[in-house]
Amino acid sequence: MRFLPVFLDLQSGVVLLVGSGDPARAKLRLLISAGARVRWYASDGNHDLGGISAADAAGIEPAAGDPLTADLSGVIAVFCAGAGGTGPAMSARARALGLPVNVMDDLAHSTFIFPAIVDRGDVVVAIGTGGASPVVARRVRERIEAMLPARIGELARFIGRWRKAIHARIPEFSLRRRFWERVIDGPIGELVLAGRSEEAEAELGNIRDPHLFAGALPSGRAEGGVTLVGAGPGDPDLLTVKALRALQDADIVFYDELVAGEILDRARRDAARVPVGRRVGKPGIGQQAINRLLIEAAKSGQRVVRLKGGDPFVFGRGGEEVEALRQANVVYSVVPGITAGFGAAAQFEVPLTFRNEALRITFLTAHKARDAQAVDWSTLTDTKMTIVVYMGMTAAPSVQAGLVAAGRSPQTPVGVFARVTRADAQAVVGTLDQLPDLVARIDGGPAILIIGDVVAHSAPARHLELTQLASYFQVAAE
Ligand code: SAH
Repeated sequence: MRFLPVFLDLQSGVVLLVGSGDPARAKLRLLISAGARVRWYASDGNHDLGGISAADAAGIEPAAGDPLTADLSGVIAVFCAGAGGTGPAMSARARALGLPVNVMDDLAHSTFIFPAIVDRGDVVVAIGTGGASPVVARRVRERIEAMLPARIGELARFIGRWRKAIHARIPEFSLRRRFWERVIDGPIGELVLAGRSEEAEAELGNIRDPHLFAGALPSGRAEGGVTLVGAGPGDPDLLTVKALRALQDADIVFYDELVAGEILDRARRDAARVPVGRRVGKPGIGQQAINRLLIEAAKSGQRVVRLKGGDPFVFGRGGEEVEALRQANVVYSVVPGITAGFGAAAQFEVPLTFRNEALRITFLTAHKARDAQAVDWSTLTDTKMTIVVYMGMTAAPSVQAGLVAAGRSPQTPVGVFARVTRADAQAVVGTLDQLPDLVARIDGGPAILIIGDVVAHSAPARHLELTQLASYFQVAAE
């Protein structure tokens, strides 16, 4: 993000428009519709307003003379549209004075740019592409237009009218936020969006106890709670709708190292973010300490999200956290996520089950050689079973030895899938006897192993077969 979207208060001064023709008049219309007072230097001396009504034109002050030497006191921003060579010169002057300046279609001479705008009265959405593509901005705009209720601006205004009164009655911030959430998401909000603002006014006026309405506990505090959220394997688009909602509602997010920054970015801006996971080579704060933090935060009335890679209940210690929360009488819920194995399967086209070839799936962890020794490999020899191994990189030689010793064929297809669903995902496939070599070809974790005949159907295996075939024919031709 190079340009920060901010909203300029046009009541605070005069804006300067330099330029002529249709580009200048288009800017005039936009500025006037936003209530601006505009001092307009028409480069060609033609101040014809081209259909702007007399009432709207009251905010326009046609100016004569040279804008490069004119007095700029009281000016809050400078716009150049259809200004020709005056644009860059005007830009230099504005910058020298510390005024924000936009020269149309000239990023190099602009200190701010115009977004595409969705205008619903008090609700305004600005869409920018850093000046790269107005067409992309327009497409985004169309989608937002289609998504927003027509009266969303009225809803904002409605709440604006009541804000002070409710602020006085609910001084506590988090409870007040919940009050408004219930208003917006409930029948009162619906009334406003249906154009029945008067009834909505009456309903809101009838709320006797705003604290109770906001769901306060007898202590007067907001009720806190914990949501265990599965963040999926890395691609933020794989978050569920529920996960997104929990992140948007959170006061505080405790996250693991596995969770990508892009996913954290989807949390509410004001939410506190606390890393609690193990880092590679460094110990984490420990499960007990994490449990304590979750409980404390929830008991202080916060909405807590415990964000975990993949699914919280697949090698994620979600079970232990739920137990601790239950013992502490904390309200909690669990939002599932796409586990790494499913992410790898989808991305690299490994069908985890396949007609008569693979009839069951085992999820296994072998964190260290010691864990691998604890696995009863004799239960994993069924050739119709696909085995998905989590945390299996370092223990790969033990996994291989264990399976082969138990009787699984060294020719069993295997795949190592790293950083799945992320931009730098990597897959290496081969056979069980090659497993340690395959792992060595991975450029960094996290990675998952998939073992079983189905790996032969995967996209990288098909590709490998083709290249092997090609080199075979090449050798044969020679
Ligand atoms: N709860 C998580 C698993 C946590 S255990 C889930 O459901 O996915 C951590 C292990 O998960 C890693 O050692 C690795 O084996 C696997 N893993 C997590 N994210 C991964 C990713 N993006 N690509 C490959 N493997 C991943």
